[in-house]
Amino acid sequence: LHQLLAFDAPLTTYFWILILTATTYLLGGIAREQVCIYMCPWPRIQGVMMDEDTLSVMYRYDRGEPRAPHKKGDTWDGRGDCVQCRQCVVVCPTGIDIRDGMQLECIQCSLCIDACDEVMEKVGRPKGLIAYDSLANFERRAQGKPEKIQIIRPRSLLYTMIMIIVGGAILWGLMHRDNLEVNILRDRNPLFVQLSSGDIRNGYTVKILNKTHQIRKFTLSVSGLKNYRMQVEGIQESTPDGLPIIKVDRDRLRSVKVYLTVPRSELSSRSVDITITAKDLDGTSVSDNETTFKGPAK
Ligand code: SF4
Ligand code: SF4
Repeated sequence: LHQLLAFDAPLTTYFWILILTATTYLLGGIAREQVCIYMCPWPRIQGVMMDEDTLSVMYRYDRGEPRAPHKKGDTWDGRGDCVQCRQCVVVCPTGIDIRDGMQLECIQCSLCIDACDEVMEKVGRPKGLIAYDSLANFERRAQGKPEKIQIIRPRSLLYTMIMIIVGGAILWGLMHRDNLEVNILRDRNPLFVQLSSGDIRNGYTVKILNKTHQIRKFTLSVSGLKNYRMQVEGIQESTPDGLPIIKVDRDRLRSVKVYLTVPRSELSSRSVDITITAKDLDGTSVSDNETTFKGPAK
């Protein structure tokens, strides 16, 4: 924060602050309900998932129609309960009229329910002219049957199963998330160096990502090469058997330069497959990474 205020932070930081501020203002301040109507996929998903028994915010036209303004003392006979006050339209964040039926623009915020209930209270009619209801209930009422909320049905069971499977898979993935990631990049230029002693040396950049909140130490070892010597730039600490110990801060990526040197006589071909293994000192994480060791033609 201090760097940010002192204009000492990297340029990309200011760039992203500018982008995020501008998009928030554009979407939340100017575009507003257009985001819900044209950009948000939720209404489309909702439209596909619904069936006759799905509860959603609905205007009970069978009770509200024929709509007409109402003055105190006027009779309610021969008319519906909707008094044409348009409060449901005024409060709607997407600007739709729920009395026109179910619409993709509806985000099910239920503000129109509260607005209409207040009006019904004032005019002395029962609340619930706009309410959570289902298309099946409109049918039932038309046939003189009692209303029913059917929560357990094939579609809702299927959705529940899908949610449990997807949720379980995400949870399993999180719980079994690898907390170590290692990347090995071979030096390409030069492919190898022949030392004055005749030994062959290859260089690698080893990137170790510590995904935990603890500082961790890793050893590096190589398989597939005999009599190799390993040198890691900037690393002095090593295990009793000579493996370099690389300390990586919590939630950090550390990149180290590693040199492997072998006597030329140990190289059986121009390219030998090897595995560089990074291992947590406490033995909880191991990462095997295949690469090659290059040398001159025999
Ligand atoms: S708030 Fe209720 S009474 Fe007023 S217009 Fe909407 S549905 Fe009709
Ligand atoms: S539920 Fe919300 S978005 Fe849908 S019609 Fe009512 S006020 Fe509008």
